[in-house]
Amino acid sequence: MKKIFYYIFVSSLILASCQNNQKEREATKVQHTETKQNMQKEKTNDIQQKINQYIEVKLVTDTSKLNEKEKKMLVHLIKAVQYMDPAFWEQTYGDKQELMNRIKDPLIRKYAEINYGPWDRMNDNKTFVEGFGNKPAGANFYPADMTKTEFEKADLPDKTSQYTLLRRNKEGKLYTIAYHTAFEKYVKPAAEELQKAAGYAQDPMFKKYLQLRAKALLTDQYQPSDMHWMDMKNNHIDIVIGPIENYEDQLYNYKTGYEGVVLVKDMEWSKKLAKFIKYLPELQKNLPVEAAYKQEKPGTRSDLNAYDAVYYSGEANTGGKTIAINLPNDEEVQLKKGTRRLQLKNVMKAKFDKILVPIANMLITPEQRKHIKFDAFFANTMFHEVAHGLGIKNTINGKGKARTALKEHYSAIEEGKADILGLYMVDQLHRKGELKGDMKDYMTTFMASIFRSIRFGAADAHGVANMIRFNYFNEKGAFTRNPDGTYKVNYDKMYDAMKTLSALILKLQGDGDYQAVSRLIKEKGIVPKQLQQDLQKLNEARIPVDIIFKQGTNVLGIE
Ligand SMILES: [Zn+2]
Repeated sequence: MKKIFYYIFVSSLILASCQNNQKEREATKVQHTETKQNMQKEKTNDIQQKINQYIEVKLVTDTSKLNEKEKKMLVHLIKAVQYMDPAFWEQTYGDKQELMNRIKDPLIRKYAEINYGPWDRMNDNKTFVEGFGNKPAGANFYPADMTKTEFEKADLPDKTSQYTLLRRNKEGKLYTIAYHTAFEKYVKPAAEELQKAAGYAQDPMFKKYLQLRAKALLTDQYQPSDMHWMDMKNNHIDIVIGPIENYEDQLYNYKTGYEGVVLVKDMEWSKKLAKFIKYLPELQKNLPVEAAYKQEKPGTRSDLNAYDAVYYSGEANTGGKTIAINLPNDEEVQLKKGTRRLQLKNVMKAKFDKILVPIANMLITPEQRKHIKFDAFFANTMFHEVAHGLGIKNTINGKGKARTALKEHYSAIEEGKADILGLYMVDQLHRKGELKGDMKDYMTTFMASIFRSIRFGAADAHGVANMIRFNYFNEKGAFTRNPDGTYKVNYDKMYDAMKTLSALILKLQGDGDYQAVSRLIKEKGIVPKQLQQDLQKLNEARIPVDIIFKQGTNVLGIE
């Protein structure tokens, strides 16, 4: 995914977040191994291989923790978000039924369902359906034949609105149409479902939110519901619904795609998270770097909670699936109230089971595989998010913000910082007895995650960050490669490398040293040949790149 980030970094926020957390990037493509003797067979294999990049998982949660009213509410919330599917289809492609009628091969139809159109989201949006060219950059938000010049000349005041479509009239002239009008047949019944769900809501704040969100869908005025969403604290159930991200509009990033996610809060984990946030100032003080680079004070006003996602629809259900949500995007709301971060525990678990464990089974030395644990993966992932709030945002030598000084390299460095300081936080909390388990679990799982993330590629900030860390760790002896191609973590050395790499990155950010960062990325932001060959084994073993969901009220058992 070429997802750019959907929120603006607001320095007053306590926890600045991942630039890339909404979606996970596509990884390397499955390689063709078939010979080209039989073209038809080749085609079938090809599309089957494409489908195999995704592994299906059931979206479930512990429904015994839900009361009857909550179950009824979930049924309506799921119905509501299901209307985001046809709306998003129209935004990204057009008439879904017309496309499906054109495709005879059931496998190709299946892949079109997965992609919400005839273009492959795992392969630079190239088409896999005969008769189609490249995907229009503006998807179906604009007429496909519209040029940028034409758009810029058009005298249409709301043409840049995130909630309008552009179309042509009979004379061929551009006009705009508001989402709530264009998509009335979907947003109206969706709003009705939200109202029905509100009828079962026991938390008054959540009830009000559902009512406000229903109104927003019908008017395209989302701010009141976003403001209110920031104030909700005690609701067990949650929902994200509406036109939210602007990645699908690759022409201008103006137009937002409809999507929905229905969520159930993990009350136990959420409590633990709230406790961890309180340690941030102390952790900042202990950072393994000179005092000048840790003088900023991280805030502790934060909303970080764990959830099970029980339904994904529309844009959220495309490509690499979200494992963390950070909303709202409205900058006015962000400045007044901050953002909320939602960690999607069951989706992380699915990626852990289906992707990380198989990777570890191929690339981690057998005697250390017992240290690959989900709790460690979850903690590492979560503290990555929290660690964005540690360290230094402003340079110490008058170069302004580190973000500005480091320009296009900032994201990779910031992601690398969050990864390594995330592990540092885990270690500190582990020492305090706040985190259980063996530190070896966290470190071995951290190592396996490096392989997973390097698969995201050099076009992705997380991918580059992990390449740098792999090469840095290699240099410091944090791991050794066995002759059989598996990797063994050397815990003491990894521990030292964690501290020195943290210091190195914090210093680069604090100095705003663009030259040094460029050098680091050039030298270490690469995949060495040996590693490339080792990663190729993962492709050959068909270890999936991402997941698709089997989901719904019947999967949850609440029908
Ligand atoms: Zn991040």
